[in-house]
Amino acid sequence: RTRVTDPTAVSIRNVKKQFGDFVALNNISLEITDNEFFTLLGPSGCGKTTLLRMIAGFESTSDGEIWLYGDEIETLPPNHRPVNTVFQSYALFPHMNVAQNIGFGLKMLGWPDSEQQARVDEMVQTVKLQEFVHRKPAQLSGGQQQRVALARAIAPKPKVLLLDEPLSALDLKLRQQMRAELKSLQRETGITFVFVTHDQEEALTMSDRVAVMSAGELQQIGSPVEVYEKPANRFVADFIGETNLLNATVTNVVDSIVHCTLDNGETIIAETDSTSNALSVGTLGLVSLRPERLTIHTDGNSSVAKANLIRGTLAGATYLGTDTQYDVQLSDNTIVRVRLQNDTGLHANLTNGSSVELSAADGSARFLVN
Ligand code: ATP
Repeated sequence: RTRVTDPTAVSIRNVKKQFGDFVALNNISLEITDNEFFTLLGPSGCGKTTLLRMIAGFESTSDGEIWLYGDEIETLPPNHRPVNTVFQSYALFPHMNVAQNIGFGLKMLGWPDSEQQARVDEMVQTVKLQEFVHRKPAQLSGGQQQRVALARAIAPKPKVLLLDEPLSALDLKLRQQMRAELKSLQRETGITFVFVTHDQEEALTMSDRVAVMSAGELQQIGSPVEVYEKPANRFVADFIGETNLLNATVTNVVDSIVHCTLDNGETIIAETDSTSNALSVGTLGLVSLRPERLTIHTDGNSSVAKANLIRGTLAGATYLGTDTQYDVQLSDNTIVRVRLQNDTGLHANLTNGSSVELSAADGSARFLVN
């Protein structure tokens, strides 16, 4: 295996893609590090598959450049790029057995027979299909077929593995199990994974970093914790997890701390990543409050500073097993959703129509520019 000297595996530089007049990708720039599990996350139609296909060489760029390990690859045909793709549909050869499927790429590349055999054996072990080597794809479960597709793609030792929603055909339990397997496969092989999904939970559980996309634009790149805890804008806050977005007006800003007034007149102190010179007194924006970071107080004398309490009326409760979800109506009729774990013992006093106060955990209120 060639020694990797450039720590940047994939470099996307001002890439644009147009289909006729339609702009599918607008000026995307990002760098994927060697050995990284990197995920492109976004709703259907945001352009993530198009970007993956451009890295693979199945689609040309309209503008910009793509570099792989220090080389610009525009003129390299797909089969000469050090990448391989795993498709949602698996695309296994139905007339070949498991071993033949896994060995196919090696044969095409002209590996000597003995090396092919050794590599197929190794891959069969890696994806735990020892019992199934002589079966055809039709005699395998969905999860087993997925493992064959992964083994086939990894066998030729690509530097980068592109995965286009590879788990979406599996049922929930199997999908969750395969997440863990994919993650450890990436660690074991050291191959750079570029994973495409619209499933935020999948992205958060497996990735080193996530690029959140919407309508052909890059919205934010960060670790799972960063994109969840510090969403850059409304789209990211809303798309990843669940959140309450309340209209707010800035009344004071010092560095990353923003004091603002909600529509019901109450004050919230929130944090922001926006450079504070983009914010000034009177700037309109949104405060993002995650339901699980809010607490409900009923006794009217909570220890929280008055500035960070939101008063409201309990308007509904839904039991969700591990949690209960409460809807709290503010004086301007906005509904704020709160999630409380069912083992907290707070629930006894929470009856519909009662007056409550909400407080947000330290640092959890985020101010977003509208
Ligand atoms: P999904 O999760 O549904 O696959 P996606 O984020 O992967 O969505 P893409 O498949 O990259 O989205 O498509 C992005 C946009 O480009 C879509 O609006 C799609 O209709 C459009 N598009 C993709 N391929 C073509 C094409 N060959 N000709 C015209 N428009 C296309």
